[in-house]
Amino acid sequence: MRKKQFKAESKRLMDMMINSIYTNKEIFLREIISNASDAIDKLAFLSLTDDKVGIDRSDFAITLTIDKENRTLTVSDNGIGMSADELENNLGVIASSGSRRFCQENENADLSDTEIIGQFGVGFYSAFMVADKITVITKKYGEAQAYKWESEGIDGYTVEPCERDSIGTDVIMHIKEDGDVADEYSQYIREYPLTKLIKKYSDYIRFPIKLLMPHPELKEGSTEENPEYEEVFELETLNSMVPIWHKKKNDVTSEEYNQYYHEHWMDQNPPACTIPISTEGTVSYEALIFVPSQAQTQYYTDDFKKGLQLYSSGVMIMDSCEDLVPEPFNFIRGVVESPDLSLNISREMLQQSRQLSAIKSHIEKKVKTELKKLLENDRESYESFFKYFGRHLKVNLLDSFGQNKELISDLLLFYSSTEKKLVSLEEYVNRMPEDQKYIYYATGESVTSVDNLPQTEIVKDHNMELLYLVDPGDEFIPGMLQSFMEKEFRSIDDKDLGFEDEKSESDSSIYKETFDFIKETLGDKVDEVKATNRLRSHPVCISSGDGITFEMEKYFGAIQPGGIGAKAKRILEFNIEHDAFKALDTARITDPEKAKKFTEILYNQALLIAGLPIENPTQYTDLLVSLF
Ligand code: ADP
Repeated sequence: MRKKQFKAESKRLMDMMINSIYTNKEIFLREIISNASDAIDKLAFLSLTDDKVGIDRSDFAITLTIDKENRTLTVSDNGIGMSADELENNLGVIASSGSRRFCQENENADLSDTEIIGQFGVGFYSAFMVADKITVITKKYGEAQAYKWESEGIDGYTVEPCERDSIGTDVIMHIKEDGDVADEYSQYIREYPLTKLIKKYSDYIRFPIKLLMPHPELKEGSTEENPEYEEVFELETLNSMVPIWHKKKNDVTSEEYNQYYHEHWMDQNPPACTIPISTEGTVSYEALIFVPSQAQTQYYTDDFKKGLQLYSSGVMIMDSCEDLVPEPFNFIRGVVESPDLSLNISREMLQQSRQLSAIKSHIEKKVKTELKKLLENDRESYESFFKYFGRHLKVNLLDSFGQNKELISDLLLFYSSTEKKLVSLEEYVNRMPEDQKYIYYATGESVTSVDNLPQTEIVKDHNMELLYLVDPGDEFIPGMLQSFMEKEFRSIDDKDLGFEDEKSESDSSIYKETFDFIKETLGDKVDEVKATNRLRSHPVCISSGDGITFEMEKYFGAIQPGGIGAKAKRILEFNIEHDAFKALDTARITDPEKAKKFTEILYNQALLIAGLPIENPTQYTDLLVSLF
């Protein structure tokens, strides 16, 4: 029979598997069993609405069969099966997203350097790590004809009609001969090592995984004085079948939780929070929710699908139910099981289900509580989490127009001028001296650029803490929150910083003529010129007052190209005590041309420090040079 060719990327993956020197080849069994379990899940789901399925839930099983003589291990299931087309499409190309990612991320990897295979969930092809030939015999639910798929590796595969009595699939793996390492592959055709693997990787699979296990029994006719034993085989269920989310928290180790998380969501990093939930009330449900410690690459792409697995009374209803995920925490992973949900649930009904939204809001509270605990008890992990997901929390706060502020505000971290690290708003307020009225903040592009802003001097001079809001969109946060623990936010650009001993606004009237001169020189480039008290060592700064900030202007400019976005006011503020200002003031009378140059230079300097573009850098440097 003519062999069909694998697609190029499948070939490469298969090549990697066949030649793999990966030490954990045993994970192949987890992959094959998980496929079998998925196939049963699909048929179990169909049976909810289709009486013709005719299989009782208690009859679903995954059966392992060992043939030591022929060195085969067979994994059989009575799940949904595959049609001829599905065999081609599912096993001839890379189906699993885990496999695809593995291929992409290891495109140039050295084959000997694939210690990471287990982190990707490489799916069906992983069986080629231990088998040199795989035969799949399958009959799809609703079809009369069964098919056989067979492959000995990269050369290709064949598909032909065959016989199979019932619906389901057998994956027959012809196990490789042992190489230099004793029992390297033979362990997969021995009962006890297989039992251990099932316990390790597949214990929580909800369908029984059965294997004929040997038991010594007294041979007929042998006596107790002279016993002779023979091996009798009995079909045994190897897994406990209790889903991990049904187990009591204290009965599960964190390694087991991590392992489960890792296998299901292909994340090599242990989760930041593991949240088992079991609750009874208006809605009863059990759940196991994970907060990832890092975002996987697809989180930031359109490929990312939020969702939790949804089970009802042991049957998986949806693999990824979006409606269970609170939007502020769209990164969570996990599973929810509730007996209250109607099994006949359809997608539309689901969306409306009141139970679902009750579960969702309960999960939201739980996740919030756990994140708060993490913030208080394990700062390092929280900061790592925040590095990846903090921006989403902020975006959500803005997108909800502040509606989620109760939920999110105390999860936010900002860089602090005094602590020199990220701090929470609660920490900030708790540290505030009695005479401090406001939560002070400054916005800008980076911690360094904000730290260098001249207008931060007055707050620093009063030994007060300043928060640096440096992520895109951060400048909108104070407006959304208004206040935190009854303390209002105040930008360092604000006219009134609330210091009892001095006003940040200084009396501009004595230098009125000089300020008029500066305004005239700069024309429309500035909206206002005035004196300020907020500067110490610097002569000048540019501020936006208390309306739209420069960061907002940049933000709107970016989302509305063409400059139709809102414009910040440009207020040029002078430190009238500074020698530079005094020189300008004198030059206005003695040498107005020079005073104009001083004005331009100081204006450009203010722009530069504020991180704003200067209109004509050459003219600015020429001006500077002309003063020498
Ligand atoms: P994944 O399971 O991650 O999608 P695999 O490479 O393991 O990727 O499997 C590819 C596809 O082959 C599965 O998505 C499924 O559609 C099909 N498949 C594999 N094993 C079985 C099985 N025992 N019964 C039915 N379909 C199966």
